[in-house]
Amino acid sequence: MTEPLRIHTTSPDETQAVGRLLGERAQPGDVFLLCGPLGAGKTCLTQGIAWGLEVKEYARSPTFVLMTRYRGRLTLYHFDLYRINDPLEAWDLGLDEQLFGDGACVVEWAERAEEVFPEYSLWIDLDYAEEGDGRTITIAEVPARYQAMVESLKGFKHG
Ligand code: ADP
Ligand code: MG
Repeated sequence: MTEPLRIHTTSPDETQAVGRLLGERAQPGDVFLLCGPLGAGKTCLTQGIAWGLEVKEYARSPTFVLMTRYRGRLTLYHFDLYRINDPLEAWDLGLDEQLFGDGACVVEWAERAEEVFPEYSLWIDLDYAEEGDGRTITIAEVPARYQAMVESLKGFKHG
């Protein structure tokens, strides 16, 4: 476990750039759990992760379809749990199958089904910056399998 990491981003491009660093280092079975309020940059970060995985399509928020699959270096499963009322509904989406599969998973609103995720998931908190119109990306705990990846974020530079 390393100390918490907080990155301040000042534009959507920067949020995507952070995501790209994650996607470039993603391995089969990685699970990225994104939490934070509407507009905090979860979909934006996901787009970056997708590009880092060499996905050519544009990752939109799957709010209405709940899961979108993208083909890249790894298959990316993008979930959005905004609309679920009960964590059990997450299972109905086929979440477990993908969480324990060979692709990479990104889950927006993961806090809505906290208990269903594997222990080795990487929790990423996004929020509005306290000052200005930027955003913050916080990683409080880093399971061993993500340590090199998170280490690479420490080199993140603005602009
Ligand atoms: P969420 O999926 O968390 O609801 P989005 O990723 O859709 O949020 O982002 C909401 C808006 O915030 C988008 O218009 C996006 O371009 C913008 N945004 C993302 N990151 C930043 C940032 N660091 N600074 C300013 N605006 C940002
Ligand atoms: Mg979103």
